[in-house]
Amino acid sequence: MKKKIPLYVQIIIGMVIGLLWGLIAVQFKLEVFTIMWIKPWGTIFLNLLKLLAVPLIFVSLVKGISGLSNISKLSSMGLKTLALYIVSTVLAISIGLVLVNTIKPGKTFPVEKQSEYLEKFGANISDKQSAADVIREQSPLQFVVDMVPENIFHALTDNSKMLQVILFAILFAISMILLPSKKTEPVKRFIDSLNDIVLKLIDIIMLSAPYGVFALLAALVVDFSGDADLFTALGLYFLTVVLGLFILITVFYPIFLKIFVRKVKYMKFFRAVMPAQMVAFSTSSSAATLPVTMKQVTNEMGVDKDVANFVLPVGVTINMDGTSCYQAIAAVFIAQVFGIDLSIGQQLTIVLTALLASIGSPGVPGGSIVMLIIVLTSVGLPVEGLALILGIDRPLDMLRTVVNVTGDSSVSMIIAKSENQLDIEKLK
Ligand code: ASP
Repeated sequence: MKKKIPLYVQIIIGMVIGLLWGLIAVQFKLEVFTIMWIKPWGTIFLNLLKLLAVPLIFVSLVKGISGLSNISKLSSMGLKTLALYIVSTVLAISIGLVLVNTIKPGKTFPVEKQSEYLEKFGANISDKQSAADVIREQSPLQFVVDMVPENIFHALTDNSKMLQVILFAILFAISMILLPSKKTEPVKRFIDSLNDIVLKLIDIIMLSAPYGVFALLAALVVDFSGDADLFTALGLYFLTVVLGLFILITVFYPIFLKIFVRKVKYMKFFRAVMPAQMVAFSTSSSAATLPVTMKQVTNEMGVDKDVANFVLPVGVTINMDGTSCYQAIAAVFIAQVFGIDLSIGQQLTIVLTALLASIGSPGVPGGSIVMLIIVLTSVGLPVEGLALILGIDRPLDMLRTVVNVTGDSSVSMIIAKSENQLDIEKLK
């Protein structure tokens, strides 16, 4: 009898073959073939996942919240979720700050590369800079204003407006709770059925995941092949970010889960979250990974659907531990390169702005770059510094997205445990 290879093993195989193919393509001049014939399959896979992000967020939030018995249950779960998201993000930023101040990667950055990179990548930042200028010139309350859509269809058509969709879904679901159940029954049934359909769609799309990640990674290696030089100059900065993300995954989350969930074997948690991590790595988007995260958290970690339906969609946009850790390191790195000493007060400002910036960053590839400009300017650092790190951002984006997704999954377990809605036996 043919034994079925588990999906996550298939995805790992796809990734490894993708990386190998990329290397072979660079060696044997198959770059054009790879970009013309393989890359599109990766893009198709990515689009399919993105396609599901908005319907999934809307349907799962409405289902999750309207399934709660009353508003006080929602506010208790909501407050707990928010508190955990903020605490984990602040700790992630602190880890980043400690590392970058200890390792000081900016001090070793070769001076001659400084002007070269500023020139090479400087042009790329002007539109990002004007986007950041617009944000900065607005009222401090503008980000709250931006959360409120004036037209739900506009919000639904833009993957970077997830917070607006979330707000609408929450209000919609709250109204459902407040009405007598007889009145909302048809919509409830409709949403339930829609939810099942979306979940089935995810199952179908995930069948193509091994091929999708193969194509994404093969194309990535080819796209990156000319930039080996960047890695040498920025090596220490790269390693500092990787170390920060590694500490989050191997030290921080195990302790976090131990404290709040207790009876959890981290290796089992890790195995369960791995398929989502791999999709996060290949797509650099926590929003695109949401369908997989949702599936893993409910099917393999024993988190109740109602909890996952609430915690994960919210986490996709507002909880980004990997991103915030990286933003802190990047800001101080740029200060070090330009020989600017940051006071304790300025470093605390980085904590605050990186927290807000990670909340404001959409879960899309490179989503945090515009927000990083806000962090830089909050402590008076030159925005041009961004040009130094832009060339090497993609691999770091892949890694921080892995952490972002792991953070959301951990918090969903903790909330489920606190709500008595965790079936730990499922974590095999
Ligand atoms: N790509 C990240 C995510 O989707 C966001 C970022 O750090 O740019 O989670």
